[in-house]
Amino acid sequence: MALDFTLQKTDGKARAGTLKTAHSTIETPIFMPVGTKATVKGMLVDNLHEIGFPIILGNTYHLMLAPTANIVEEQGGLHKFMNWNKSILTDSGGYQVMSLSKLNKIKDDSVVFQSHIDGSKHVMTPAISVGIQHQLDSNITMVLDECIPYGSDRDYVINSTNRTTKWAKLSKEAFIDRDGYGIFGIIQGGVFEDLRQKSAQELIEIGFDGYAIGGLAIGEPQPVMFEVINYTEHLIPANKPRYLMGVGRPSDILGAVELGVDMFDCVLPTRMGRNARAFTSFGEINIRNAKHKNDSNQLDINCKCKCCSNYSKSYLHHLFKCDEMLGGILLTIHNLYFYNNLMKQIRQSILTGTFKEFKQEAINKLSSMN
Ligand SMILES: [Zn+2]
Repeated sequence: MALDFTLQKTDGKARAGTLKTAHSTIETPIFMPVGTKATVKGMLVDNLHEIGFPIILGNTYHLMLAPTANIVEEQGGLHKFMNWNKSILTDSGGYQVMSLSKLNKIKDDSVVFQSHIDGSKHVMTPAISVGIQHQLDSNITMVLDECIPYGSDRDYVINSTNRTTKWAKLSKEAFIDRDGYGIFGIIQGGVFEDLRQKSAQELIEIGFDGYAIGGLAIGEPQPVMFEVINYTEHLIPANKPRYLMGVGRPSDILGAVELGVDMFDCVLPTRMGRNARAFTSFGEINIRNAKHKNDSNQLDINCKCKCCSNYSKSYLHHLFKCDEMLGGILLTIHNLYFYNNLMKQIRQSILTGTFKEFKQEAINKLSSMN
């Protein structure tokens, strides 16, 4: 296959593996920072290397509008354009077409939409989305799908999921096979077990390098998300990576790893960092809070990141109060370090057969401040 995934160890349903692409070896479970517009906001790639990320995300919808896929291609592809030499996964643009743009029409073979930036009109088809991701030189291409809103009725979910399956087939046909590059299918089906099963089976018949569980983390309660993962993941072949798109908070990730998920991405650590919120091993902190004004302690006594090693809560509080951009940068470094470190600890606990104990302890600590 174009991507090489090895499952090394399971602990219950939790899995530790390695995924090799043309640009890096990714130890799973993995959290992938989001670099929407060819940058992980506020981060030099050196910051990402120092923390240790082997893969980041790029967003097809944003990049096709600005600077355009042609320009990224002419500049040597996304790796060269943004000076990132490790792996890149790109989403298909489907989610943003539905959520950000002015959607004109969704048809069986295409989506017509208007840019949220300048109102310009665009057509997206499965082949166009895959072609753009090829131009970007993405290591992991995602098929075009429709992200079904939470709470949609069964008839809508049936129609939409059938369309996503058809689009998945067209996406696979448009994908150009290369060593170290792959394409993932996206399982839809809403919160209906039989429709998830049908979607998974049809996608597995088409055959992909990995499978995403889509249409979650869009407003449903956490137990519903876990229930859907629980009745979907076992349908995916054990020798393929499973990706939970857009997830999530540390407790979401811990719960999903327990159910057999290997890959995650989310804007939370970067977005919350810019908004003065830090994830710590004892829960979340808002550094703007007045109680940090004269606190010489670091954000998280257990953290060895560049922010915690060098700066006090008092200093970080001051930066945010004065709207200094370094505040957002330092909290983003900390939050990404926290996520990567959490994943490393999760992986280690799976390898040593102690994941359940690790998870329980982590969950207890995370909720201790709330
Ligand atoms: Zn830190």
